[in-house]
Amino acid sequence: MRRGLAAGNWKMNGTAASLGEVEVLKTAHPAPAVDILICPPATLLERLSSVASGSAIATGGQDCHPEKAGAHTGDIAAGMIADAGGSHAIVGHSERRADHHETDAIVRAKAEAALAAGLVAVICLGESLDQRESDQTLDVIGAQLAGSLPDGLTGANAVIAYEPIWAIGTGKIPTIEQITEVHDFIRAELVARFGAEGEAIRVLYGGSVKPSNAAEIFAVANVDGALVGGASLKAEDFSPIIAAL
Ligand code: PGA
Repeated sequence: MRRGLAAGNWKMNGTAASLGEVEVLKTAHPAPAVDILICPPATLLERLSSVASGSAIATGGQDCHPEKAGAHTGDIAAGMIADAGGSHAIVGHSERRADHHETDAIVRAKAEAALAAGLVAVICLGESLDQRESDQTLDVIGAQLAGSLPDGLTGANAVIAYEPIWAIGTGKIPTIEQITEVHDFIRAELVARFGAEGEAIRVLYGGSVKPSNAAEIFAVANVDGALVGGASLKAEDFSPIIAAL
């Protein structure tokens, strides 16, 4: 069945001093039963990839530009992530959607660029608190899936991350029933669109995952792992999350 994935998104955190955390994770998880991914800021990707090389830890970028190269100051192309040793690219994180006005169409184009560069696209989606409270969650997720996912996704080239915006960095998580409902819905949509590959695509939960709540979240049938922000920065927090998967 689907192999678990514990993915860390360091966001705009980390300097060379943070590489020691990866050394600790390497030693703590020499042959994990699940996949481990760390997406550091771009400044650290090459160094972190070299620290992680030869271990079970994969690395990736937090975003990529839809184009291969060109006049886009400050942006990073998917091929550059691969060149720096990364194997994955997060696209469509709600912070990118909000801070950089990324629409579903832009997220889709970024995911396509990631696939074209041979990266695994980690495509994020999730509802706002307003949308949750006005009972629009499944409509919003359905529209984001339809608009953000490229054709041709497989279990090998894509991961979906469901991250309710109101749960990110807030310490609040949905109820287990709410997580189950959304993940079951995403699974059904993936199967409807991608057939057998829709069964193989991993669906992560993200938003305030911590050592104390990881096990109950991972017990949900269609939760295949987590995209972890704050608790991925320190090995002492991320390691028990990996172990709970
Ligand atoms: P958090 O972030 O774990 O700090 O809530 C999750 C994410 O945004 O990926």
